Amino acid sequence: MLETAHKTATVYYRSLNHQSPPADFRAATIAGQAPDGGLYFPENIPQFSDNFLQNLRALPRPELALAVMQPYVGDAIPTADLAQICAEAIDFDFPLVPVQPGVSALELFHGPTLAFKDVGARFMSRCLGHFARRSDTPAVTVLVATSGDTGGAVAAGFLGVPGVEVVILYPSGKVSPVQEQQLTTLGQNITALEVSGTFDDCQALVKQAFQDVDLRARRFLTSANSINVARWLPQQLYYCFAAQQWSQDAPAPVVSVPSGNFGNLCAGLLARASGLPLGPFIAACNANDPVPAYFRRGGHYAAQPAVPTVSNAMDVGNPSNFVRVLELFDNEFPRLAQALSADTVSDTETIAAIAQVWADYHYLLDPHGAVAYVALRRHQAAHAEAPGLLLATAHPVKFPAVVEPVLGHAIPLPPAVQHLQGRPKRSIELPVAYEALRAFLWR
Ligand SMILES: *Cc1c(COP(=O)(O)O)cnc(C)c1O
Repeated sequence: MLETAHKTATVYYRSLNHQSPPADFRAATIAGQAPDGGLYFPENIPQFSDNFLQNLRALPRPELALAVMQPYVGDAIPTADLAQICAEAIDFDFPLVPVQPGVSALELFHGPTLAFKDVGARFMSRCLGHFARRSDTPAVTVLVATSGDTGGAVAAGFLGVPGVEVVILYPSGKVSPVQEQQLTTLGQNITALEVSGTFDDCQALVKQAFQDVDLRARRFLTSANSINVARWLPQQLYYCFAAQQWSQDAPAPVVSVPSGNFGNLCAGLLARASGLPLGPFIAACNANDPVPAYFRRGGHYAAQPAVPTVSNAMDVGNPSNFVRVLELFDNEFPRLAQALSADTVSDTETIAAIAQVWADYHYLLDPHGAVAYVALRRHQAAHAEAPGLLLATAHPVKFPAVVEPVLGHAIPLPPAVQHLQGRPKRSIELPVAYEALRAFLWR
């Protein structure tokens, strides 16, 4: 029986803007972002023990999850409660599926909303729910803008959690039908605001609300995107599950991560920094490629205006979590470049890859997984075909407009979304005007 995965004790979090005091897991989770506007970052990176790494393959997933998360949570949540939160957050499969020789897909879409964000959203919602039971915790409103997948995962994760209200802004007409059902049919403590604008408009409205001092005095707002440590950190578990399933005799895998806001990739690099045996990482991006451009320019970063692509969950022009990636390597570009490379994949290449992998191997990629596939294959062509894995972050059924023309027929809906069919849609229409959002939140 394994006591803990790490050699180190409780982690505290410091702000990457350096103007706020350190916070424990509870304070960091409730606040989302540090008071100085910085992202919270672990003060020290816990190292996996030799015992943990040797026993990794034999560990049941709930035990593994508890062991990995324990030092990050410390005594903010009693161990028995944390064990239950971990077990519930990962209560589905994470198979590593062979696609072709040298390429496997780690399927992260078997959760309730069919995208990888389920694990982080479920973990965070249960932690907030736990904290909300304490009388000194304010009633919390989770305010979040979504381009599609975040909203569904957050809605499902927080549904029915006492003491937590969830308000989701989404761009009207710009999410897929399945995604919209996941946002608008649950009811209870979940409200969907249907904004007559773009995702950027939604995000700008949310940002304005977070800067509204009077509103925040009236309502305790927190964010549920990957800047929140409780959503970001449990994503390390995917990489542990991959390592569990990777052949013991093979060299450590190259890991290709379809990236938008860089939370998932940064969590993988964190697990690697803790000692998980993984090869170099690839940041696989669509036309929104400030990070590949950073590499091309030898370590100079510039944000970009976001452009729409077929892998819409990665349409991010200024990824929030890239500062955390830089921090992991002490902002030293040569060290970073040893562990990570980055690639830009066009929509044309993405769609061609979906068709080719389907035709050659009968494996169906979604557009996000396809971006990771193309980047991995290009890396392999340049690096003696080093074996690798890609993260398949969403179920192809979530993107029928892209995937069905390739297949030539419709994809049957999996049970996880079938039950949403025919439920009445409930949303509140909102113009792109901050006063309208403010009036809604002021109630
Ligand atoms: C959110 C999302 C991504 C990007 O993940 P980040 O952590 O923001 O980089 C990739 N694929 C899918 C399907 C997503 O929903």
